[in-house]
Amino acid sequence: MKQVSRSLELFAKSCQLLPGGVNSPVRAFGAVGGTPLFIARGDGSKIYDVDGNEYIDYVCSWGPLILGHRHPQVVAALEAVLAEGISYGAPTEREVVLASLIIEAMPSIEKVRMVNSGTEAAMSAIRLARAYTKRPKIVKFAGCYHGHADPFLVQAGSGALTLGVPTSPGVPAATGELTIVLPYNDLESVEEAFSRWGEEIAAVIVEPVAANMGVVLPRPGFLEGLRQITREAGSVLIFDEVITGFRLAWGGAQEVYGVEPDLTCLGKIIGGGLPVGAYGGKAEIMQLVAPEGPVYQAGTLSGNPLAMQAGITTLRLLRSPGTYEELENKGKKLAEGFSKAASAAGVPVKVSQIGSLLSVFFTAREVVDYETAVTADQEYFKEFFKLMLQQGIYLPPSQFEALFVSLAHTEEDLDRTIEAAAFAFEKLSRKNTKFVE
Ligand SMILES: *Cc1c(COP(=O)(O)O)cnc(C)c1O
Repeated sequence: MKQVSRSLELFAKSCQLLPGGVNSPVRAFGAVGGTPLFIARGDGSKIYDVDGNEYIDYVCSWGPLILGHRHPQVVAALEAVLAEGISYGAPTEREVVLASLIIEAMPSIEKVRMVNSGTEAAMSAIRLARAYTKRPKIVKFAGCYHGHADPFLVQAGSGALTLGVPTSPGVPAATGELTIVLPYNDLESVEEAFSRWGEEIAAVIVEPVAANMGVVLPRPGFLEGLRQITREAGSVLIFDEVITGFRLAWGGAQEVYGVEPDLTCLGKIIGGGLPVGAYGGKAEIMQLVAPEGPVYQAGTLSGNPLAMQAGITTLRLLRSPGTYEELENKGKKLAEGFSKAASAAGVPVKVSQIGSLLSVFFTAREVVDYETAVTADQEYFKEFFKLMLQQGIYLPPSQFEALFVSLAHTEEDLDRTIEAAAFAFEKLSRKNTKFVE
């Protein structure tokens, strides 16, 4: 067992000071049990906890660190900003540079507004879509995450086609009723919802590749279908590319699947590890945002120099030829390694992968939506997570969070990870628990 006494101490103290001891729930290891590790530093593909243990990191700050920890060029660029000044609350050139990089990468975006988180981006995009269409309702898909604003903390009501009910206390029922929650990958239910409420639906918001219920790929035709239905109904199609933007390709999932949304939400990678979000799209819609238009949205630290520079340097490095091939090769190697190791051990898992995003579902079922994702066995994942952690592999502490591979992960890191997984699957195969079929 690894020695983690300093993490234990810090967590005990932290629990007295912060709700649950953390500043974002999944960090608390609730889904896997045990005590979260307190991290002291990171370097490339590795992180080091406060007790000095080393781990190969597949969380990578939940996605932003696609270059790995402390990429020398990002660090140098941030130091140069610090020598000038931290924040002004006045326009700076870096905002223009990052905006032009984003607009160059995603042709569907003509104008973009910087915010400070993905939550803010999605929340603001919905307000804008409602203003543009003068309609109140939105459609979201079960298992897709769009941050923690009220309209998104909603699940499907019981019964086939019903309005949403809040999943968190504090969200008014009336807010829930404005969100229609449908199964991912199910165009028929989208058509039904539109035939019932079409005139009232301002927007459909979707993760073009779902990565917050584990990784779930869109079925062929799903995104195209959403494009067609929303166009015909005069609704706004919003791609939440907070994870997929600049990860699956320079132009995001919209480039990979060749479908252009009206609005796009960004975050994570475009901040290079600093707090950032952005939403952008057609000029005709974006011109409604204040001060050009009447839709209010503001931010004291929006577009701040440090975050802009971390984003600019990260995106410029990602633009180099071969980047996305390398990420795809690494993701594929890991996915194939996991699949092979699991089947050699006789453990039924479904590994889902696209580019540098992947997840391991402990289920024998094909995973296509939230309902099938949650057939995955939590107890098995919990054991798997612990066995990997003991071997120095830091996975996301939930089966329903994606693993993030970075450019800093070496072939040796991947080989070590696959070996560790083979050992873990072998151990798990001796357990006599049944999988949900
Ligand atoms: C992380 C995430 C968000 C929220 O971003 P925050 O910066 O955590 O507020 C929104 N949408 C998706 C798809 C995400 O993965």
